[in-house]
Amino acid sequence: MDDPLLILDGLHKSFGGVAAVRGVSTTLARGEIRGLIGPNGSGKTTLLNLVGGQTRPDRGWVVLAGRSLEGQPPDAIAARGVARTFQLPRVFRHMTVLENLLVVVCADHRRAGWVEARRDAEALLRLVHLDGLAHAEARTLSGGQAMLLQLARCLAQRPLVLCLLDEPFAGVHPGIKERMVQAIHETNRAHGVTFLVVSHEMPTLRRLAGRVSVMHNGAWIADGPLDAVARDPRVIEAYLGRPGPGHGPEEGRAPGRAADGHSGQPRDPA
Ligand code: ADP
Ligand code: MG
Repeated sequence: MDDPLLILDGLHKSFGGVAAVRGVSTTLARGEIRGLIGPNGSGKTTLLNLVGGQTRPDRGWVVLAGRSLEGQPPDAIAARGVARTFQLPRVFRHMTVLENLLVVVCADHRRAGWVEARRDAEALLRLVHLDGLAHAEARTLSGGQAMLLQLARCLAQRPLVLCLLDEPFAGVHPGIKERMVQAIHETNRAHGVTFLVVSHEMPTLRRLAGRVSVMHNGAWIADGPLDAVARDPRVIEAYLGRPGPGHGPEEGRAPGRAADGHSGQPRDPA
């Protein structure tokens, strides 16, 4: 890869005796959509936290667009163009849906005045089909709608070069999932934004990601096209605890979900 957007080099993070991320090295191309899978507890969220600056590595480096992120707090990393969503949606519950977006849009002082800010925020709401709920308080949204709002807020950030999405589709109604996929595709196509998407939803990742990477016990054990990764004996073993054909993450629902306490059923109306 000639000029990767993101380089992870020997990243390591332990919590007490638990090595959550162990020597992860990889690169993401500019404009790539990369999937990240792995059983629960394999270190996916910790890895996103290391890139976003929510957690500092014990060892190793994160390099974005040729410059190290070492020692930088999350707000400085965000100012470099890294946006993210969290596994549990974080929204301002007592603000309206539109206000939630205006907070992000107005935080960029290089943008012009209020009229433009409002226009941008409304365009983003249309992109994720939340415009009909613009004046609803965020606390009234379903879990899936809150996740959609979180995604829109992530996409509102400027500059925006890398989006880190942590299980955005988990437990979300298929109709909302579809809006998310379209918004991700559209943002990727129109602005060349790079995405790293943690998900257990193989059919959705198949539509989004050219390459999928796999973590297990903190290590980066495989990456490549989804079909190849799903046949990889190391990946099958990571999910099942034993090698065997036809039982990888590709088969039906992701095994990681069950231990998460999710039923696997959509929990939201469209
Ligand atoms: P995943 O997102 O793949 O489910 P995580 O990154 O959340 O995995 O967790 C990886 C491992 O690190 C797990 O064993 C988890 O319990 C541990 N871990 C994550 N965050 C912390 C923390 N803040 N303190 C202690 N242990 C943690
Ligand atoms: Mg996680």
